[in-house]
Amino acid sequence: MINSNLNTLTGVRHGNLFVISGPSGAGKGTLVARMTETFDDVWRSISATTRPPREGENNGVHYYFLSDEEFSDLIAQDGLLEWATVHGKRYGTPRTAIEEKIASGKQVILEIDPQGAFQVREKFPEAILIFIDPPSLEELEKRLIHRGTEDAQQIRARLDAAKVELSQINEYDIVVKNDDLDLASKQLADIIDFYAIS
Ligand code: 5GP
Repeated sequence: MINSNLNTLTGVRHGNLFVISGPSGAGKGTLVARMTETFDDVWRSISATTRPPREGENNGVHYYFLSDEEFSDLIAQDGLLEWATVHGKRYGTPRTAIEEKIASGKQVILEIDPQGAFQVREKFPEAILIFIDPPSLEELEKRLIHRGTEDAQQIRARLDAAKVELSQINEYDIVVKNDDLDLASKQLADIIDFYAIS
């Protein structure tokens, strides 16, 4: 407590784990990209996944793209802080990098699905769970269609998943409504600053 008060007075920042979840198309990726541009000490974790890369995605930049066997090996080695099956593919957070970055004072951001978010809370109770709330399901559908990375069937599946995710909104520590990107970015930046120095 004394340390945390001192930090507030002196502006010294310490590492934290932020978990960002929310429906596909809610704007999580854009918001997280803004945070990495805004802060020198924000670090976004790179997940492992068994889904194939989309056009323009690179291994080790957007994801570590693994085979099913490689992913299973990683689980067997206890190499993942959490993992879940999302839209039929497996996704997980590599453990070691997270622990190292938090210890070195970084603001670590995981952009993961709710199943993963709640697993992280179990293993790392200090994690701050943030839900990015889209303006409405109609707007979400428009964004997904406009994004053009999913076909009609995938969009329907993501909208169905969104309804389930929205029903769990009360489980999160903080909700950021993303109907205005600049406002939502400012709120997220304020949250990161608050935890970094408290
Ligand atoms: P996409 O395939 O569109 O990049 O991501 C699909 C979903 O997987 C998103 O909801 C994203 O948040 C989630 N996701 C990405 N990485 C991870 C991860 O490491 N763990 C979990 N549990 N979900 C993830």
